[in-house]
Amino acid sequence: MKIICIGRNYTAHAAELKNDIPDEPVVFLKPDTARLKSGETFYIPSFTNDVHYEAELLVRINRMGKFIDEKFAHKYYNEVSVGIDFTARDLQSNLKSKGLPWERAKAFDGSAGIGEWVSLDELNSPIDELTFSLEKNGERVQYGRASDMLFGVNALIANISRFITLKVGDVIFTGTPAGVSSVKRGDLLTCYLDGRQVFDCKID
Ligand code: ZN
Repeated sequence: MKIICIGRNYTAHAAELKNDIPDEPVVFLKPDTARLKSGETFYIPSFTNDVHYEAELLVRINRMGKFIDEKFAHKYYNEVSVGIDFTARDLQSNLKSKGLPWERAKAFDGSAGIGEWVSLDELNSPIDELTFSLEKNGERVQYGRASDMLFGVNALIANISRFITLKVGDVIFTGTPAGVSSVKRGDLLTCYLDGRQVFDCKID
């Protein structure tokens, strides 16, 4: 499986990092070794002094596809969750300033927290109406609504599949809303999808 991530997909988050609003999705990848399951501990890597959480709505692909038309994209997934795109912000800023790829800052082991999958039938709400949130030590620090995305899930699938074949089990991280910040040892992160807890991890 591969993990496909979208950057700058919420206006307020692009602004907080002083990035321009993109006219096409910003796409990058994480390898399968980046996976961190709910309940596992996230260990802050030794190469960074500033790891940020980015809570994001996740979609799991359940059908292989390429050149998927936006109006058929909904047939390519049936499960969603919430996860965390852990980012070594200090490294990323350094790489960005040099115009270099972000992988060291974004694709390291354990950098893709993936929550429990929930079927859309069970949620009984269209994908564009889903909401999600992140609590750090019991306090809400991020809240997102799929309807606020610059590029919605179906538009993302259409765009990504022009370049990369989507396969069963691939996961799309759809971008983070405003409110990103650092984690430190001892923090507890908990993610909610439409109010139900789907992911938690301790930081060490
Ligand atoms: Zn992200």
